[in-house]
Amino acid sequence: RAEAKLIDGKAIAADVREEVRVGVAQMKEKIGKVPGLAVVLVGERKDSQTYVNAKKKACAEAGIDSFGTDLPGDATEEEVLKVVADYNADPNVHGILVQLPMPDHIDEERVLGAISYEKDVDGFHPLNTGRLAQRGREPLFVPCTPRGCIELLERSGIEIAGKEAVVVGRSNVVGIPAAMLLQRRDATVTIVHSRTPNSEEIVRRADIVIAACGRMEMVKGSWLKPGAAVIDVGINAKDDPSKKLGYRLVGDADFESCKEVAGAITPVPGGVGPMTIAILLKNTMEGAMRAYGMM
Ligand code: NDP
Repeated sequence: RAEAKLIDGKAIAADVREEVRVGVAQMKEKIGKVPGLAVVLVGERKDSQTYVNAKKKACAEAGIDSFGTDLPGDATEEEVLKVVADYNADPNVHGILVQLPMPDHIDEERVLGAISYEKDVDGFHPLNTGRLAQRGREPLFVPCTPRGCIELLERSGIEIAGKEAVVVGRSNVVGIPAAMLLQRRDATVTIVHSRTPNSEEIVRRADIVIAACGRMEMVKGSWLKPGAAVIDVGINAKDDPSKKLGYRLVGDADFESCKEVAGAITPVPGGVGPMTIAILLKNTMEGAMRAYGMM
């Protein structure tokens, strides 16, 4: 049989970013305004700094204004809340994101809940999460990574309605919202997690597998129903002496064995990863369009 079709996240993300760039240019032409994104970083984590810089650069390329506040790792919760409140009040800011994880002494739930839900581009505000979970309700924003997974499926022509989907992982950031989004698109959804005794058996039922367990190469080809679509959210560094850095990035699915059985699969890198930032830009543009009554 033929190998799985590669779902090219880089190309699809480039399409989304181009759509956003065009949308931003039209907004500027019509009303003389552009969307603005504020990124709040607390502490000096190298990985977080890298993500924040990538987000700002992507904003610039799309024509979105970016604002940033970097607070030291020992900033108080009140200081973080003050920064959030200022951005809530700033009419040039349409999206606010607080880079996670925050230092332990800061109450993440309190900070995320303080972001205006109309500017909650990460979709972690309880009102957006709650609406995502309810029938007949529409969240203003949906978390970027899971929305990216759905866009990858839809733009690859993979049917969701009526299909069996299994989400491996139940984090607030990926697993749970991914399951909600699939369910809202009429898939029959099962979530498996670290206490599921027979994940492998359950995954084998799936037409669509979302691998988001944070366990390197855990989902094997032997777990898949032939022809299944595999969306691999995982990002793990695997030792590889043949690489300059001494490692390479691999997913939560074992690409080599999965591609022999799957019908379609996202590579790592170049699959879900590039979509996360593309959707962040899209969410920000949509926030601005709502703020200016354009959607
Ligand atoms: P978390 O560690 O927060 O969650 C992992 C989930 O997987 C948990 O719900 C856990 O279960 C479950 N899990 C762990 N072990 C198993 C197992 N043996 N079988 C079944 N389920 C298991 O991770 P995230 O959701 O934040 O991230 C998931 C992956 O996606 C990571 O590899 C991360 O690096 C990557 N990621 C990629 C992004 C991107 O932009 N591409 C963005 C965000 C994350 P339990 O709840 O029981 O502990």
